[in-house]
Formats: sequence, C-alpha cells, structure tokens
Amino acid sequence: MKHFLITGGAGFIGSHLTEALLAQGHQVSVIDNFNDYYEPERKRDNLRGALQQEKFRLWEGDICEEAFLQRVLCSNTYDAVVHLAARAGVGPSLRQPVLYQQVNIGGTQMVLEGCRQAGVRKVVFASSSSVYGGNREAPFCEEHSVARPISPYAATKAAGELLGYTYSHLYDMQVLCLRFFTVYGPRQRPDMAIHRFALQLLNKQAVTLHGDGSMRRDFTYIDDIVAGIQGALQYEKSKYEVINLGNSRTVSLVELLQLLERILGTKAVIQYKPVPPGDMQETYADISKAQRLLQYEPHTGLEAGLKAFAAWLQAKGVSY
Ligand code: NAD
Repeated sequence: MKHFLITGGAGFIGSHLTEALLAQGHQVSVIDNFNDYYEPERKRDNLRGALQQEKFRLWEGDICEEAFLQRVLCSNTYDAVVHLAARAGVGPSLRQPVLYQQVNIGGTQMVLEGCRQAGVRKVVFASSSSVYGGNREAPFCEEHSVARPISPYAATKAAGELLGYTYSHLYDMQVLCLRFFTVYGPRQRPDMAIHRFALQLLNKQAVTLHGDGSMRRDFTYIDDIVAGIQGALQYEKSKYEVINLGNSRTVSLVELLQLLERILGTKAVIQYKPVPPGDMQETYADISKAQRLLQYEPHTGLEAGLKAFAAWLQAKGVSY
C-alpha cells in the first residue's frame, strides 16, 4: 500500500483518480480549497464516496498558503504528490491572468518547494495540451516547441513544466509532467464544451458554437487519463519527463455536436459566435511516448465515452 497526496483532488480528474487509487487499496489524502470557479457543492459531491472510506483524508485549504501546505506535507510520508490543483480553462485566464499566475505558477512553486522540504521524491504535474499553442505540426509531439503559448493559462502550464524540470535537476526528486488533452466523462467541469453542449441540447436552448465548428479537439475519456496517471505513478526510470495523454483522434466541434444530437435524441439550433482569443484551432496528441513509457493505451472511443457522460448527466438532472 502506498500513500498519495492529490492536490485539487475534489475536482473532475482528481476525484476519479482518488477513487481509482482507493480501489487499489492505497491511502489517499486530498488538498482542495473548494473555490467557486464552478459550484463548490459539485466538488463536495465528487468526494462523497471517498469520504466514507477509512484510507481517505481531506485537507481543506489553499496550496498557496505556505503554513497550511507545510502542515499537510509534514504530517505524513507520501510516496508521491499528484499536483492537479489549478485554475483551469483558457477563456477565464484572459480575464484573470494574475490569479492564474498566482495559483498555477505560484501554487506549483509552493508545492514543489514544500515537497523538497518534506522529502517527497516524486511529483506528477497536470500540464495541458494548450502549451502547444500555435503549433502547426500535428500530431503534437513532446519535442515540439512550447515557447509560444497563446493564452495566460497555457503560459502558466508551460511555466509549471519548467519549474518541475528545475526541481528534478537540483534535488532528489522525480517530476513527471502529463499533458492532458480535453478530458471528458462523468463529473466533467460544467464550463467545458461537451458539458455545455449537452445541457443546451437537453434544455432545448440554442447551442453556442465558436467559429464555424471546424475547430478540432482530441477528446480523452476520464478513465484513460486516470490509467495514464497511474502509469506515471509506477514509472521510475528517469528523473524528468513530459508526456502527452490524449486519445490521439481529433474530432471537429460539428462532428462532436452531431454525435451528441444522436445520443441525446435531439436536434441542435446553433448560435454561431466568434472564436474567442486564446483558443487553439486543433489539438491532436502523439501518444507514442506514453505508450512506450507508461504502457498507456486509450480504450474508450468518443461515442462510448459520450454515452457514459450523457447517462451520468441525465441521472443528475438536466440543470446539472
Ligand atoms: P477542476 O477545476 O475540476 O479541478 C481542480 C481542483 O483544484 C478543484 O477542485 C479546485 O477547487 C482545486 N483548486 C484550485 N485552486 C486551488 C488552490 N489554490 N488550492 C487548493 N485547491 C485548489 O479541473 P480538472 O478539469 O479536474 O483539471 C485538473 C487539472 O488538470 C488542472 O490542473 C487542469 O489545468 C489540468 N487539465 C485539465 C484538462 C481537462 O480537460 N479537464 C486538460 C488539461 C489539463
């Protein structure tokens, strides 16, 4: 049995990871500040099952508060920290760039430094496909330049990777940066396209589509992402790696909408809006490195994954 600390563990990805690690018999501690980026009640709901389990502990607080973080890190011996806590989302980062910098760069610095001081030897960091920015070469490969992030959010994730490199270089610490590609599934954040589209369809509202619908995303099902993180938790060979975790299939927003229409049995009335600044035209992961290092293999195709998401959403109610 190992003991893992997950920052942001009440969120979409973190709560699924928590459940998977508990199911494997590990001890899991979670830090979360339940901020109001979206309703904190959803995050409490995400942890309802975990909170029943003896091997689970919740630390409610902010990773940017040094004394709190030190208390959490020094009160136990952790085999690894999975650092997921962040301000997520591209659009809001243009409106609140300073907050994104404080949480995503300042907070990551705090976590890395706290881990160093507490003697934690392994950190897995949630990076993002957004770091590829205006990259024209697809599929995106880890060797491609990420020196041109096109949103404050993307810049904070690229900075987090750099900080991770520095700590792995200087100290006895392994840092693995996983670049997630548009993750979806039950509990998905309500600001994300699949969740928004589904609610608009179910509520017979106009579906807001940015651009002409030709933007393409590499949608990755939550269970595959969790399996990739678990692979990273087992990987020990090198001190620093950056690894894409995607589905390696790219789908346009129009195709996505058509699939959702079929699954939900309703036809969309589309309201077109301009592409917001900071949005990428396409994301598409080369996952050969993840396959090689982590034995990562995405198993859930978009249609099956959307059906699982739709079933969850319908069970929650159409206003969720
Ligand atoms: P989420 O918002 O559901 O989860 C993040 C959690 O972190 C939330 O519960 C939030 O309350 C917590 N948090 C935020 N700031 C905190 C702070 N200062 N102190 C303590 N807790 C804090 O988001 P998610 O979709 O689960 O994303 C998890 C991570 O993966 C994030 O780092 C995100 O940037 C990254 N990521 C997500 C996706 C995706 O498609 N969902 C894609 C790429 C990268």
